[in-house]
Amino acid sequence: MTITDSEFAAAQARIQAAYDPDLLAAASLKFSELISAHAQSIQTEDSIVLNWHHPAENIELARQFLQTQDNTDSTPPTQQDTIQEFQQLVQLMLDRGHNLQNPRYIGHQVPASLPLAGLFDAITSVTNQVMAVYEIGPWATAVELALVEMVGKEIGFTPGEFSGLVTNGGSLANLTGLLAARNLACPEFWTEGSQAQFDSKPVILASSDAHYSVTRSAGILGIGADNIIKIPLDEQRKIQPAALEELILKCRKENQTIIAVVACACATPIGAFDPLNDIADLCEQYQLWLHVDAAHGGPTCFSQQHQHLTAGLHRADSVVFDAHKMMFMPALSAFLFFKNKAHQFSAFQQQAPYLFDPSAPEIAEYDLGLRTIECTKRANSYALWGIWSLFGKGLFADLVDITFETAQIFYSLLEQAADFEALHTPECNIVVFRYQTAWLQSLPLEQQNLFHFQLRRQLIESGEFYIVHSVLDGQAAFRITVMNPLTTKVHLLRLLETIRHKASALQHAFPATQQADPCEQT
Ligand SMILES: *Cc1c(COP(=O)(O)O)cnc(C)c1O
Repeated sequence: MTITDSEFAAAQARIQAAYDPDLLAAASLKFSELISAHAQSIQTEDSIVLNWHHPAENIELARQFLQTQDNTDSTPPTQQDTIQEFQQLVQLMLDRGHNLQNPRYIGHQVPASLPLAGLFDAITSVTNQVMAVYEIGPWATAVELALVEMVGKEIGFTPGEFSGLVTNGGSLANLTGLLAARNLACPEFWTEGSQAQFDSKPVILASSDAHYSVTRSAGILGIGADNIIKIPLDEQRKIQPAALEELILKCRKENQTIIAVVACACATPIGAFDPLNDIADLCEQYQLWLHVDAAHGGPTCFSQQHQHLTAGLHRADSVVFDAHKMMFMPALSAFLFFKNKAHQFSAFQQQAPYLFDPSAPEIAEYDLGLRTIECTKRANSYALWGIWSLFGKGLFADLVDITFETAQIFYSLLEQAADFEALHTPECNIVVFRYQTAWLQSLPLEQQNLFHFQLRRQLIESGEFYIVHSVLDGQAAFRITVMNPLTTKVHLLRLLETIRHKASALQHAFPATQQADPCEQT
């Protein structure tokens, strides 16, 4: 069955209306009005951070909108109608979203991205810029390679010797870096998979606080999650070099192949930076691949004041470095660097002949799809290239300096408060702390833990603040990460006040009888 001429014409008219450049012009004006008003509102004192609704309620509302439009039997709407509906939809998205740019969002390590970065990024979506080979995304490829060069130099890699790529997040970057290491250590893994016969068992030595994506990578790569050997940490949760050396010698003695040593800059639990130079010394001595997960802390290399934390980062064979954490970028844009550019193709060795053109072999150097897990890859560096070009790299140093300092201010507020306890001295912008009164301490640990979980839930559902919870050594705690440079001491004092206020209300419900320790299963 084919469609009739009149059906075809009607379909064509609807398509043309959807593509109409005048509609785009009108929608863009409306968009600019709404997004600016939203940005203003976020900065006002009583604006809500998370507009909490139960998931079922949100899904129901989302479904209703999908069901109201049935464009096959109605006359086409006027442009004015469409703009009105567009406005309603944009406003709803803004209202129901999470306001990560609110200075009282101090939760996960997700930035208060610069709204202007989003405008640059919108070019990617509005004009659908993608990459795999140079010719499909020439400008996307150019900005990515220029950024790889500039960020790599900040890290301290030798110009001309290193290489890198941008991929969809730190987790994929960890996987890709460890895949390159695995292929170099055990080449038969790539071709033979689980059928390969190894003379010695492949293992990864990783910080006990390494991100879970490292464990997942070991699972995905066929190394096995159980073959991650955890490197013991000191009391500041940093890798102990002496313990690492012992493990290396033990693996040698037991005839195990160490695919990589994984260190963190910083690890997520409390933001601890591993001693990279000491670890790099050992990796050089024993000729081991050093992979450093600097997804969060990499941008300290922009800051005069804090670059000591990542001293030695340039000695790693592979480095993960997220732009969507401490460089203002909207998700996702993560760098993976290789100290030795010969390793840039080690992760993915197969060819896709229709993609790569033998009439211009020198262009393959610029066909970035050879190096990433993605085939079609969203051009995700427009925003970083735009912001760096507009404001200069000094703005990245400012972000590190201000947010780290604000975390120190928070730490001193905790030290001064009799009813709060910091669980560590912060090295960056992550602070883990507990509410601690004599009454709460008189309860069993599982009740104290439950109290922290319940209090946080009330706090985030109120929309006043967004913070996260953490569990350290069996103790539930609150965890903040100061991602927004507009978060100040005033907000942090108010956070402590709000917690106190909610705690005294919650106190009446305790001790709770029925629940088990919420930390037992984590
Ligand atoms: C955030 C983070 C990751 C995961 O990165 P995504 O971009 O969220 O996939 C990995 N490691 C560390 C240390 C991180 O902070």
